[in-house]
Amino acid sequence: MTPHIAIPLEKTALETYVPPAKPSLVGLSRADLMARLGDIGVPDKQRRMRAQQLWHWMYVRGANSFAEMSNVSKDMRAALEQHFTVDRPEVVAEQVSNDGTRKWLLRLPGDGVGRAHEIECVYIPETDRGTLCVSSQVGCTLNCSFCHTGTQRLVRNLTAGEIVGQVMVARDRLNDWVDRDTPNGNRLVTNIVLMGMGEPLYNFDAVRDALLLMSDGEGIGISRRRITLSTSGVVPNIARIGAETGVMLAISLHAVRDELRNELVPLNRKYPIRELLDACRNYPGASNARRITFEYVMLKDVNDSLDDAKLLVKLLKDIPAKINLIPFNPWPGSRYECSDWDRIEKFSEYIFSAGYSSPVRTPRGRDILAACGQLKSETEKLSVRERDALRAMAMTD
Ligand code: SAH
Ligand code: SF4
Repeated sequence: MTPHIAIPLEKTALETYVPPAKPSLVGLSRADLMARLGDIGVPDKQRRMRAQQLWHWMYVRGANSFAEMSNVSKDMRAALEQHFTVDRPEVVAEQVSNDGTRKWLLRLPGDGVGRAHEIECVYIPETDRGTLCVSSQVGCTLNCSFCHTGTQRLVRNLTAGEIVGQVMVARDRLNDWVDRDTPNGNRLVTNIVLMGMGEPLYNFDAVRDALLLMSDGEGIGISRRRITLSTSGVVPNIARIGAETGVMLAISLHAVRDELRNELVPLNRKYPIRELLDACRNYPGASNARRITFEYVMLKDVNDSLDDAKLLVKLLKDIPAKINLIPFNPWPGSRYECSDWDRIEKFSEYIFSAGYSSPVRTPRGRDILAACGQLKSETEKLSVRERDALRAMAMTD
């Protein structure tokens, strides 16, 4: 019999979002944007055209204010100004790594009594692409034992505007909007990964809406094939996100046996490996040309043996997959160490010989703590002791 498991998946009550008095139009669907225009008296037959204009200004040109919107009448601009903004999250700090990685600390409205939240967003330039790593929650309700974000006390779901707003902030800061003044006009942000703070499939609606905005051909226009959502395995929402957005999928697998995965990724107790892999087999649009990425964090003497590699290959046999080995990034108080380099190489060679591309993810931006799993707001820590107590409770339940 399966033991009764009461993992505190929700480690704290989720905070509710309190919108600012003057809300931002960033993040609304076209239909909602038209409805808001209706609210301020824009006649029915003008709404579609006005919404189209606003859409172009916000998502193609990156306008920061209504004043810039030169083809919108003066009266209309004044009315918009009175009721709305086109604000995105506020940048409170920017750090540039010696490898060119940039990390922004962004401030978001808090709980309505003056407490603000912070999230992080990271831009990683490479020769053939520029990848933006976006957060979907403040903190994370899940409790993966190797992840720094999981130690954060307060959790709030980001709104669609706050998620897509991170892409807009990056384009603002990198001067990466459409009329970019560079020799070849190439865009800097070409790819998006939802691998920042939070579990995206625990914030389904806002994440879906934001993904649709990022990939909108008349707006930000980043192809769905260049957007990857990473999940720790919220099985019921995997098929839904595929069907509703068509983005690429990455799975934080990290272990090939339920016993170990239960410990590393406690959500596994609810959705074990077999169910997770079934959801992958049925992921809409998965094919050899559109492979699912399996992320595997290399933890010394925990999950890095050749037997693990063998079982991994066996498990993924009939799934169009690629495997991404991630060297563990330690953080203060973490209980694991990164596997030795020759272990990682052996693991990777075995996978490669089995026919998989198995790139080892190069840690980027280490000097500014921008690497995977290190994103975390310093202000909202759960102490290591508190966290261990929580985990112990979970294990004995
Ligand atoms: N919550 C989602 C997405 C955010 S985490 C998920 O878990 O998939 C993005 C990736 O970073 C995941 O694969 C996660 O397991 C990994 N990660 C977390 N902490 C890490 C650490 N300390 N070192 C290396 N990778 C880590
Ligand atoms: Fe949350 Fe992902 Fe970190 Fe797990 S690895 S605690 S799901 S952010």
